[in-house]
Amino acid sequence: MINNRLAQQDPEVYTLIEKETERQNFGAELIASENFASRAVIEALGSTLTNKYAEGLPGKRYYGGCKHVDVIEDLARDRAKELFGAEWANVQPHSGAQANAAVYLKFMKPGEKLLGFDLSHGGHLTHGSPVNFSGMTYEAHFYGVEKETGRLDYNKIREKAREVKPKMISIGASAYTRDFDYEAFRDIADEVDALLWMDMAHTAGLIAAKLLNDPLPWTHVVTTTTHKTLRGPRGGLILVGRNTENTLGEVAPKSGRVKNWGEILDSGVFPGIQGGPLMHGVGAKAVAFGEALQPEFKEYQKQVIKNAKAMAAAFVEMGYNLVSGGTDNHLMLIDLRNKGITGKTAEQALGQAEITVNKNMVPFDTESPFVTSGIRIGTPAMTTRGMKEPEFEYMAKLIDKVLMNAESEETHNTVAAEIRALCERFPLYDFAAL
Ligand SMILES: *Cc1c(COP(=O)(O)O)cnc(C)c1O
Repeated sequence: MINNRLAQQDPEVYTLIEKETERQNFGAELIASENFASRAVIEALGSTLTNKYAEGLPGKRYYGGCKHVDVIEDLARDRAKELFGAEWANVQPHSGAQANAAVYLKFMKPGEKLLGFDLSHGGHLTHGSPVNFSGMTYEAHFYGVEKETGRLDYNKIREKAREVKPKMISIGASAYTRDFDYEAFRDIADEVDALLWMDMAHTAGLIAAKLLNDPLPWTHVVTTTTHKTLRGPRGGLILVGRNTENTLGEVAPKSGRVKNWGEILDSGVFPGIQGGPLMHGVGAKAVAFGEALQPEFKEYQKQVIKNAKAMAAAFVEMGYNLVSGGTDNHLMLIDLRNKGITGKTAEQALGQAEITVNKNMVPFDTESPFVTSGIRIGTPAMTTRGMKEPEFEYMAKLIDKVLMNAESEETHNTVAAEIRALCERFPLYDFAAL
């Protein structure tokens, strides 16, 4: 793309980027949180927009020279709102974790209580883990899945909420294979007078395509990443649906006017937790949201789910235990305990065979988080390359081959060659370093 200059000036970095592009092109990328952004998105990311300071919002900046980036950010916000049917959007969070930090800053005071999805059951670090600022700053309590079903039981969540009386309830996960009942969550939140926040970092693309339940009408705020199923640049996004009534009670210091929900969250992002926005990221988000508004995006997301269901069925047929028995979205969680292999060993062996997955805790895991009993597998990235059910069933068989011969270098090499041949049939980007 623009790498000829880079190749001349800094061959060391250039060569490493080439190698990484090649790794992406010839390996099976099955990490559930990864995807391949389009060339158009990558071009926007590698643009002059990175040079611009634009603290503030369109029309209200702390820097001059913002006439073009203002239009770009407005485009990104309008497209995000259209895509999700939102009343308000902030496209500046640098990442998913940053979007979440802005929500915490505005919705909760230090020491207040959070009720979130247990990390070891599929939740995320930013939902109250003791090693994350959320768990250090707030008093975190958790709900989790049922041992027998691998699914949430809303009566149990209600009981927990009555007991804890949280200021905020969070929904959203990194390894939950079933959809959420937002209406039930809202009913629980209303009963205990809690704010309700959905973090759809993993499923935003599926939600945009209307293939999963819509959290916008039921929650007070929704956050997401833009680089997982949504297939945009690495970044974050905050949305507010039709709950525009202000119950936070923050007042504008000069005018005495009660601020609306969106304004409050805007100030949570900047100046609350961030400095200048990454305008190259905002530009790339505008491009990605534009792509997501096209009819092909919905077809892509449908295929993501079809592929996940086909692959999950293939694993079940080979005697693997899937948490919750299968999947309704883009990922599956395999409990490897009946196969006599840990998540750590599985991840390493598959890596040798150019298959990238991540080890993952399964609910009620008996291993440590560094070892784990499971692996998480997702279909978004390889679906972007055009692969369909037969290719995913084939990859499931190759994964089984590696896991059943985890120590065999010969198996690793044969499978790596088979993966390479498969990838060659579905080229990622045209070559010469993009
Ligand atoms: C990935 C993820 C995040 C964090 O996103 P980053 O961009 O890595 O900061 C937050 N919440 C959930 C549920 C996630 O899956």
